[in-house]
Amino acid sequence: MSDDVPVKLRAEILAQRPYKQGKPAPADSFKLSSNELPFEPLERVVNAVRESAQFNRYPDAGATSVREALAEHYGLTVDQVIVGAGSVSLLYQAVQAAAGPGDEVLYAWRSFEAYPGMVTVAGAKSVRVPLLADGRHDLDGMLEAITDRTRLVIVCSPNNPTGPAVRQDEFERFLAKVPNDVLVIADEAYIEFVTDQAALNATRLLADHANLVVARTFSKAYGLAGLRVGYMMGDPRVLSAFHTTAIPFLISAQGQAAALAVMQEADAVRRRVNEITVRRDEVRRALLDQGWPVPETQANFVYLPCGELTERVAEMLREGGIIARAYPGDGIRITIGEEASVTPLLAACWRIIERYP
Ligand code: PMP
Repeated sequence: MSDDVPVKLRAEILAQRPYKQGKPAPADSFKLSSNELPFEPLERVVNAVRESAQFNRYPDAGATSVREALAEHYGLTVDQVIVGAGSVSLLYQAVQAAAGPGDEVLYAWRSFEAYPGMVTVAGAKSVRVPLLADGRHDLDGMLEAITDRTRLVIVCSPNNPTGPAVRQDEFERFLAKVPNDVLVIADEAYIEFVTDQAALNATRLLADHANLVVARTFSKAYGLAGLRVGYMMGDPRVLSAFHTTAIPFLISAQGQAAALAVMQEADAVRRRVNEITVRRDEVRRALLDQGWPVPETQANFVYLPCGELTERVAEMLREGGIIARAYPGDGIRITIGEEASVTPLLAACWRIIERYP
């Protein structure tokens, strides 16, 4: 691969496979590959974006109004909140701030596929602890993998792409055993879809743990994936280092306006999220009935472990009008989308299970 590049670039970057979004979905299929909400944007959000159309001006670099609104919502001070261009940008900033060459970043695998890339960019080393067979985090295994080079531990709950959430009690026990000068990020991108009362809500632990940071986003439950707004909550001294590694002015005025507007639509957001979680549980039950070993899921997607058949299964789903995310050799993640997607999805899955029982 590096043979094709005309200039000297970092070998570890060239060795990293770029983040792939997949082929564009054919017009008559359902795009269930990126965990987006299937609904039209809310009117208040559209209006707010339209009104913020001063394209000749830089946005507020500190996203102050959004931070103030989030601080009020969570009962935090403004300096306990940082906003970024999607939570993925904040995760990059956090990794840059915490880990450099020789340092280790620890996370479960398989998990969010952007983690390896951001660790490589920082020049640090990924330490991946395999998930348990049921798609859950192996928190004991993660504790054992901590070394004196560990600078950051990322816990993704609910886990993308497998679906289960970490339990609050197991996370509390875990956090108590992590050295308290090691940064822990709870990546809760999908927390709004959680219906299990025992699942982790790491914001409850912020007051007592200066090494804990919680990452959340407006991309999933709030339906603003295209506007790129995410946030982190934690100790101001830690977050201020993430400001240092930010690309200036990255959060657009439109994104900030949309985030503020959608926070005023709590009821509409809750209704939409509820529609998705009810559908999720129905789809999972139907897939279990068909014989698919779908892990428990607290997010807006289901995971089909397919092993070596993954790419073949993804192709059959595609032929059935379903565009899903394939992890070759491992499995397929399917977002819970619009109601009309359910029948073709279940029909395609049934054809696959008949063909490859
Ligand atoms: N964390 C997880 C676990 C995700 O799945 C995603 C999106 N796929 C993100 C963070 C980043 O989302 P965004 O940058 O849109 O906030």
